[in-house]
Amino acid sequence: MSGHMTPDEFRRYGRQVVDWIADYQERIESYPVLSRARPGEVLEALPEHPPERGEGFEAVLADLDRVIMPGITHWQHPGFYAYFPANASGPAILGDLLSAGLGVQGMLWATSPACTELETRVTDWLAELLGLPAAFRAAGAGGGVIQDSASSAALVAILAALHRADGGAAGRDGIARRHTLYVSSQTHSSLEKAARIAGIGAANVRIVDVDPATLAMDPARLDAMIAEDAAAGALPVLVCATVGTTSTTAVDPVAAIGEVCGRHGVWLHVDAAYAGVAAVCPELRWINDGLDGHADSYATNPHKWLLTNFDCNVLWVADRAPLVGALSILPEYLRNRASESGEVVDYRDWQISLGRRFRALKLWSVIRWYGAEGLREHVRTGVRLADELASWVRGDEAFELLEHHPFGLVCFRPRWDGLPDGEADAATLRLMDRLNASGDLYLSHTKVNGRVLLRVAIGAPATTAEHVRKTWQRIREEAAALA
Ligand SMILES: *Cc1c(COP(=O)(O)O)cnc(C)c1O
Repeated sequence: MSGHMTPDEFRRYGRQVVDWIADYQERIESYPVLSRARPGEVLEALPEHPPERGEGFEAVLADLDRVIMPGITHWQHPGFYAYFPANASGPAILGDLLSAGLGVQGMLWATSPACTELETRVTDWLAELLGLPAAFRAAGAGGGVIQDSASSAALVAILAALHRADGGAAGRDGIARRHTLYVSSQTHSSLEKAARIAGIGAANVRIVDVDPATLAMDPARLDAMIAEDAAAGALPVLVCATVGTTSTTAVDPVAAIGEVCGRHGVWLHVDAAYAGVAAVCPELRWINDGLDGHADSYATNPHKWLLTNFDCNVLWVADRAPLVGALSILPEYLRNRASESGEVVDYRDWQISLGRRFRALKLWSVIRWYGAEGLREHVRTGVRLADELASWVRGDEAFELLEHHPFGLVCFRPRWDGLPDGEADAATLRLMDRLNASGDLYLSHTKVNGRVLLRVAIGAPATTAEHVRKTWQRIREEAAALA
């Protein structure tokens, strides 16, 4: 077999692949949620050398079942609670397939006008669905753009903030003096990584204290640190506030932080990678408090809890000028009349790489399939199941609960009565390992004020009340057996 796959062959294998995916969706509970592959097992099962002659697609499908599936951890499994969900959905998978089918690379408006204009429309739609400030809409000075991840969104925000802070000097001449960023101990690690990449340096990422009870950033400490650093000759560039931290879904006081930023002229980036999409529900829209008039950039991941297959982050800016100022670059071969007319957007100037996938198709498919109503229902189900689990944990004397759980994440641990702290932590980790080895569920852990807690992140479309009930029963039984 060699030569290109004909449209007829594509039809035949394409049907097989779609059937394979539908079968997978039906059978997902029959797999152990956490892969049992040992390190190197998949690698060893794969031939060391590529084929000289084409092998045909049946062989690929056969190896998918034989070699790849045992090495898969099933993120769509109803018992997958370890990390924030990476929801897949039918409409998103099909939207992604259409994107692959078109094979468009949307670096410029001119390289596929629909790729750009659909993205402008769906990022506006999402801003409306989430009730985000009007400044983030494309009709004003700002706008939204799809990035591959919240990590890239943070890096892009930092580069835009740098550009605004020093008028483009760092981009042109390199960073000449000390620049500082402000995060909390709960901020996602991607901010430190972005600081390293941007040349600001990890040592200049200043860690603002959190309130030990809420784990939210202390705006008064932030204010003092910015003032100290500026007085010492540093250039404060950006503050990252988080709505829904990765460890415990803590929520920073965005309005108070925003006022501090406004006073000092520092860029406010809000990282709502996981929780931001919850604002599709009016009862959760309080998470947007303080964005309006304060946030220079805001990022959330439809690829976590909003049914849109990885990867799909949306970054909005209130003013696109510093973003485009930081990232626009124009070699001769990209010059074109549409760009020069100023009438079009070229999203390559809003991201790190030049090339870009047509990701708007899958987000468009998801929003149209579910409608605002369906999206709300999905988020509400996750919140309701988390509430239920939390109420069972609260009602059980053998367990202690972290009371803050506004979204789908619940953190708790057995009390391990009588055990000193260190041994209690070891017991909690032993419990987690036993549960994860069972094949029915997959949890993770975090550390809050020095104590290990289990994290149960609910939000897969397949997870029902019955699954959560069985999960809780399982946790109680295993904990009792270990106590
Ligand atoms: C998941 C998460 C990130 C990282 O998201 P990526 O899209 O994987 O880069 C950043 N911040 C928070 C708060 C997160 O929960």
